[in-house]
Amino acid sequence: MMTSLRKIFNVNFGVRNATRAYSADHKNLGGMTFELSETQKEFQQLARKFAREEIIPVAAEHDRTGKYPWDIIKKAHSLGLMNGHIPQEFGGMGLGVFDGCLVAEELAYGCTGIMTALEASGLGQTPVLISGNTEQKKKYLGRLVDEPLVAAYCVTEPGAGSDVNGVKTRAVKKGDEYIINGQKMWITNGGVANWYFLLARTDPDPKAPASKAFTGFIVERDTPGITPGRKELNMGQKASDTRGITFEDVRVPKENVLVGEGAGFVIAMQTFDKTRPPVAAGAVGLAQRALDEALKYSLERKAFGVPIVRHQAVAFMLADMAIGVETARLAWQKAAYIVDQGKRNSLEASIAKAYAADVANKCATDAVQIHGGNGFNSDYPVEKLMRDAKIYQIYEGTAQIQRLIISRAVLDKAKEGGL
Ligand SMILES: Cc1cc2nc3c(=O)[nH]c(=O)nc-3n(C[C@H](O)[C@H](O)[C@H](O)COP(=O)(O)OP(=O)(O)OC[C@H]3O[C@@H](n4cnc5c(N)ncnc54)[C@H](O)[C@@H]3O)c2cc1C
Repeated sequence: MMTSLRKIFNVNFGVRNATRAYSADHKNLGGMTFELSETQKEFQQLARKFAREEIIPVAAEHDRTGKYPWDIIKKAHSLGLMNGHIPQEFGGMGLGVFDGCLVAEELAYGCTGIMTALEASGLGQTPVLISGNTEQKKKYLGRLVDEPLVAAYCVTEPGAGSDVNGVKTRAVKKGDEYIINGQKMWITNGGVANWYFLLARTDPDPKAPASKAFTGFIVERDTPGITPGRKELNMGQKASDTRGITFEDVRVPKENVLVGEGAGFVIAMQTFDKTRPPVAAGAVGLAQRALDEALKYSLERKAFGVPIVRHQAVAFMLADMAIGVETARLAWQKAAYIVDQGKRNSLEASIAKAYAADVANKCATDAVQIHGGNGFNSDYPVEKLMRDAKIYQIYEGTAQIQRLIISRAVLDKAKEGGL
């Protein structure tokens, strides 16, 4: 029987407004340190054990069938491995982004498709976490603590992904309600979520600045007029549920607006400061798994009379994988640390996300290479890793969009420095 995360954190189930027994944020560690606290080590171990015992044994089956991992979600929920970031006053544990990333990396080691199903719920919740009022948080975050349910983040549309300003879904105010019409695309947890964060245009003037033209809503999944499409047949991360969703005359009470009309774009973008570090941590989990699988195989497989690890070309591939894993891990750790200090981390979050995604793809490709013909076959786990890795360069901002953010920040710094 595994100890739950709540026990590790000494947080009582059902007791709201309790004070956290001890903080896991890095403030307590005082400045520069690479050491995890004892508590963090404990729940990292819990997540590791969970990945080894509950996720790895079923990962290939979920990959083959595309079955949504409800059983794992229920177990993860009961152990407190979900929703740790929800503040204690709403029933959660009030953990920081850093702590969430530690768990994300471990779960991703088991299967990034399953981890994405969990992580996308965090993505849907984050707009409410950062901008919801007390009533909204109590109702929508509290519900996720009480039951093993998931949320989703509905921003992308068939015609607008990187260019969020191109979102066409419209919300029109009528009395105390908004009427929403439009089409979303590529929504993770789209068919299984209990509620959605949804971004819609409220200012019809095409010249209105993005920072004023959009509004963020909390939308109950069972509202009439919502129709999720088929589960998309993706290249990898097949356990995750990705769908288009149609919204037709969907009535949402004005109480479900986040902050106020026009605030949605900023909320949707600020969300990424907190969610890109866990995505990067997930990519690192995948890269670590690729390294471990490749190392194991290279010690067993013989060619030219020796284990292939004795061929320098193979050993150096492993060395490059290790360099990538270590440095990408440091990148998510820094991005998460900064945001947990209440400071802006958009630059570091983009660096971590872009870099970890590239590292995951390189490591998975090299792991397949080290496996030779076996690497191309589904009897070994590395071909799944290679398919699963690709999406890290696409969702939550593509590799190019991250570089756009990073290059702008570099140029801004140069301007500040008078270059
Ligand atoms: C499996 C999966 C899950 C997803 N989950 C969610 C979710 O839960 N919620 C959600 O809202 N969305 C989700 N998405 C959507 C995802 O965030 C978008 O696919 C992504 O942002 C890219 O948008 P796009 O597909 O429209 O590509 P486009 O924006 O059309 O981009 C196409 C190509 O052009 C490049 N490009 C675009 N603009 C520029 C530029 N200015 N400079 C340089 N290059 C550029 C891109 O990098 C890319 O290579 C998901 C997508 C997938 C595939």
